[in-house]
Amino acid sequence: MKIGKASTELGRRNGIEKNRRSYSLDIDWHVHTTNSCDSKINPRDACVYAEIMGLKGICFTEHIDFDPRDTGYNWFHWNAYIKEMEATKQEHPGFVHTGFELNWQEKFSTGLLDFLDDKAVDLVLGSVHWLKSGHICQKSTFTSLSLDAFLDEWIHEALDLLNRDICHGFAHFDYFYLFGQEFYPNLKRDDIFYLTEPVIDAIIKHDVSLEINSRVLRKGLSEPCPSWRFIENYFKAGGRKVHIGSDSHSVGEIGFQFDAIRTRLATLLANCK
Ligand SMILES: [Zn+2]
Ligand SMILES: [Zn+2]
Repeated sequence: MKIGKASTELGRRNGIEKNRRSYSLDIDWHVHTTNSCDSKINPRDACVYAEIMGLKGICFTEHIDFDPRDTGYNWFHWNAYIKEMEATKQEHPGFVHTGFELNWQEKFSTGLLDFLDDKAVDLVLGSVHWLKSGHICQKSTFTSLSLDAFLDEWIHEALDLLNRDICHGFAHFDYFYLFGQEFYPNLKRDDIFYLTEPVIDAIIKHDVSLEINSRVLRKGLSEPCPSWRFIENYFKAGGRKVHIGSDSHSVGEIGFQFDAIRTRLATLLANCK
């Protein structure tokens, strides 16, 4: 496969879809099943729970990891996943959406683009999990990097992903803050918007949906990811496309804090009109 050709085709295909697509705030757009290495969720149980929670749908976004350092390396199998999704769709018509959480790294771009080339899902979530020094959820990743060096590398990976026009959504924007805050005491969440502006510009330019991730609320942060001030600035900068994801790995986490997030989003959007 030629990367340039595939990238263009994917960009065109996803671009057309993106223009038609909006992301209902009544759907949990980021849920992992056992098709991801670190989740215990059975999709049928997830649908039953999501319906009880009053959600209108659920998107099963599975980790796609090409980095051998990741425990999810070689875990995902497309045929098994799509077979399970089809069976779940039959039991819950109109409720189930398919997706990937693409762990983007420029180093593995050839494999990732090859993987995407012949597969269609409802949502491709782009995420940056790995840097050269390690995973953003490992403290050791940050010990060898200054804040500037960390941000330079993270921004480089994020822009490399967004400029290829292959993802519909961008997952958990400042998730790195959860573990990085200990090593970067001068890093304030409210500053992250200004420190990463090229990435925000690219999200808006490429019509990518910013994920409001509620997982960090279960991990000790008081605001979703990104923070409310960040989201307000995003709206003021012209960004409009958002979706909510719980990033669930067990059933009871699905739809976590969605009511509160929807209410706050509506207020912010009304103030930015
Ligand atoms: Zn992630
Ligand atoms: Zn995830």
